Amino acid sequence: MIENPSNWAGNYTYRATQYHQPETVEQIQELVIRSNKLKALGTRHSFNDIADSPGDLISLKHFDQIVALDREHHTVTVEAGVRYGQLARWLHGEGYALHNLASLPHISVAGACATATHGSGDRLGNLATAVSAMEMVTADGELVVLFREQGREQFEGAVVGLGGLGVVTKLTLDISRTFEMRQDVYENLPLAELDDHFDELFSSAYSVSLFTDWCNATFNQVWLKRQLPDGVSLELEPELFGATLATSHLHPIATLSAENCTEQMGIYGPWHERLPHFRMDFTPSSGEELQSEYIVPRQHAFAACHIINQLREHITPLLQISEIRSIAADKLWMSPCYKQACVSIHFTWKKDWPGVRKVLPMIEDQLSAFDARPHWGKLFTMSPTRIQSLYEKLPDFQELLQYYDPQGKFRNAFLDKYIFGV
Ligand SMILES: Cc1cc2nc3c(=O)[nH]c(=O)nc-3n(C[C@H](O)[C@H](O)[C@H](O)COP(=O)(O)OP(=O)(O)OC[C@H]3O[C@@H](n4cnc5c(N)ncnc54)[C@H](O)[C@@H]3O)c2cc1C
Repeated sequence: MIENPSNWAGNYTYRATQYHQPETVEQIQELVIRSNKLKALGTRHSFNDIADSPGDLISLKHFDQIVALDREHHTVTVEAGVRYGQLARWLHGEGYALHNLASLPHISVAGACATATHGSGDRLGNLATAVSAMEMVTADGELVVLFREQGREQFEGAVVGLGGLGVVTKLTLDISRTFEMRQDVYENLPLAELDDHFDELFSSAYSVSLFTDWCNATFNQVWLKRQLPDGVSLELEPELFGATLATSHLHPIATLSAENCTEQMGIYGPWHERLPHFRMDFTPSSGEELQSEYIVPRQHAFAACHIINQLREHITPLLQISEIRSIAADKLWMSPCYKQACVSIHFTWKKDWPGVRKVLPMIEDQLSAFDARPHWGKLFTMSPTRIQSLYEKLPDFQELLQYYDPQGKFRNAFLDKYIFGV
């Protein structure tokens, strides 16, 4: 029986018949050899059935150790179930940093990389771009290690693996020297300002996020996360393209208390206490929300925002908040940013799936002109054939899955539908 039958948001109940929490790699190998159908489970933050299996679910909960810090090559090796929050705090203590984090630090490294989870930043690739080596138990129970510097093709196919290649047990990530950041928030940026200033705005800080409820043609908040070289001070402008500097700490949903949010108001602090929007020591309860996100090539960002704005009467009754982020291009086959810099349009919905399910096709229909790709771990209604047509490396990815998992042990309904189209 499954101990924890649903995902973090509680909108999806896993159908697997067995739930395991192995403590050693050997136990994972035995489980993989014994099982006909199985899937690795991270921290259960995905909103759809991507992590489910008709057979066994293998939680990586006990694989939460930091294995090695390589100061010479600037890498850290971690067990796959480590949460970013835990890793980030430890790394900072050792004098190091990751390049970016997602909005929430509670997600596992392996789960985030498997779905191309991202933060924001013009020069920052998604979190999986930091992976330089990956150890996994494949369908025959073998322990396989893939390296970025050897067998590059396979590696680039495997990192955003959607849980389909095996159970990832360890990951090695690129790190840099730790750094301090500040976070400043501006309020009420007119949408029209993006016309001429989109690039200027998004390149003005290490990481930039725009939040809007789409109630009018305005972005309610602009969050700027800056890393300044030593000795450089910053004179903040009271206005930014028509938006005004906030005078108090804000939650992206302005009516909520900002106590769970990372420090703002220009106060300097370590990177891991500024890059996520939410504090690590705030324990999120089971989320009263659903999420969807569409990733569009950067050149369409402004047009895509306008299109969404036109759908406002359908969107706003169901929406808690929307966020616009930028993501650098990468080389990972199943990343929505494969070979193209992108902008993501995220929706945190009220927990009303019947309503959300009706509005998603409208959004998807309008964004299809821009080749929008849905976030692998969130809710969408796009057809499998449409999604498949958007990934030029899909045939190679199918081959890679078949190579490592010829019997389809790690295939589930999600992979059958969206990757194999059956
Ligand atoms: C509140 C909240 C905030 C979020 N913020 C962001 C954000 O800022 N940016 C963003 O891009 N996304 C965001 N997400 C989405 C989230 O990052 C992804 O859904 C991510 O996959 C969650 O990681 P997880 O460990 O919970 O994975 P799970 O949901 O447990 O699993 C996801 C996939 O990873 C695979 N997997 C997990 N562990 C392993 C392993 N060891 N080996 C092989 N495969 C594995 C699973 O099989 C499955 O296919 C957010 C989600 C929530 C709930």
